[in-house]
Amino acid sequence: MEALDIQPRLLLGPGPSPVPYSVRRALSEPVVGHMDPQFLAIVDHIQSMLRQVFGTSNRLTLPVSGTGSAGMETAIVNFVEPGDTVIVVVAGVFGRRIVEAVEKVGGHVVCLEVPMGEAATIGDLQHLLDHHPKTRLVAVVMAETSTGVLQPLAGWAELVHDRGALLLVDAVTALGGMPVDVDRNGFDVVFSGTQKCLSAPPGLSPFTASDRALDRLDSRRASVPSWYLDLNAFRQYWGNKRVYHHTAPISMLYGLYEALRLVLREGLDARYTRHRQVAGALWAGLEAMGMELLVDPSIRLPSVTTVKIPDGVDDMRLRQHLLEQDHIEIAGGLHSLSGKIWRIGVMGHGARLSNMIELLVALRRGMADQGRQVSSGVEAAEAIYNRGNR
Ligand SMILES: *Cc1c(COP(=O)(O)O)cnc(C)c1O
Repeated sequence: MEALDIQPRLLLGPGPSPVPYSVRRALSEPVVGHMDPQFLAIVDHIQSMLRQVFGTSNRLTLPVSGTGSAGMETAIVNFVEPGDTVIVVVAGVFGRRIVEAVEKVGGHVVCLEVPMGEAATIGDLQHLLDHHPKTRLVAVVMAETSTGVLQPLAGWAELVHDRGALLLVDAVTALGGMPVDVDRNGFDVVFSGTQKCLSAPPGLSPFTASDRALDRLDSRRASVPSWYLDLNAFRQYWGNKRVYHHTAPISMLYGLYEALRLVLREGLDARYTRHRQVAGALWAGLEAMGMELLVDPSIRLPSVTTVKIPDGVDDMRLRQHLLEQDHIEIAGGLHSLSGKIWRIGVMGHGARLSNMIELLVALRRGMADQGRQVSSGVEAAEAIYNRGNR
């Protein structure tokens, strides 16, 4: 067997995003025990940095061992009991996954369905809550990676709390790329992932739960139907007692430590502005090339851009051209959007003007390869970016 020799790619898909060199270096630090005082100090720092990035003072703030989906499952197995009514906003693939997870633990799902490319309104939610007064939990995806929609959530927590329910938020593609502001927004349970706007490798799921949520956990009728993802157990290690439950993924946590350190060194506001400005440049470039964006600018995510594939352009062939000729990865659409859109990540370390310029040039060449000539998007992208930076 030969030693690994991976060709690097410019990762401009919906995750994983480019991992900075210092994060990769952190991953190769010596492995020590998970009770080693050196490591326990890192654990403390990770929790404190996660609180800052989440915008919360929640005691229970920790990285779940597993990708973003493990965070989702942790949220569902701990905060949904058999027979609970759960309203789930389904505006894309990731909302649909929450439905499946709730059904697996015997929850009764009420779907708030929205066409792909659109967002739910607070009026829609109010209407459903009126019809289902026993609702115990409302689950919603803040940044729907399958459509590129940013779901507005102003006022949602007040409404949900008024009805005695909890608000669960999927912030996988939001955290580190836009404000999540858990406490200010009144979110109760929030999970994320490391490989999107935090630019660490996949493998951990930042997670936080409010005291209101923990009260719910403490008053459960049935025990949590998962051994590994039982918050009662692993909050003992991540709480002050450091009781062994499962071995902390040491190296992954080194990586997350460094990724969070970079986020806070840049500054949260500066980072969010960078994401918006680079996304704005990409949008201007794509439009200058004659392409149409899927989502209305008022609900468009900075971290994932969805653009309609021009008629007559072969999706797979173009993406293969990008990967082979330019070593750039973007993604296609999922489910009903398959073959109709491309999804371009503007995430974390990858959110730079130079990357967008490279992509715009490569896209144009890829289309020319299929006999389709379009104008350059480079100048428009640069002009919008410069205007934002003046
Ligand atoms: C990527 C993603 C997930 C799933 O995360 P994994 O790390 O792939 O398990 C969940 N929700 C959203 C919105 C995502 O973008």
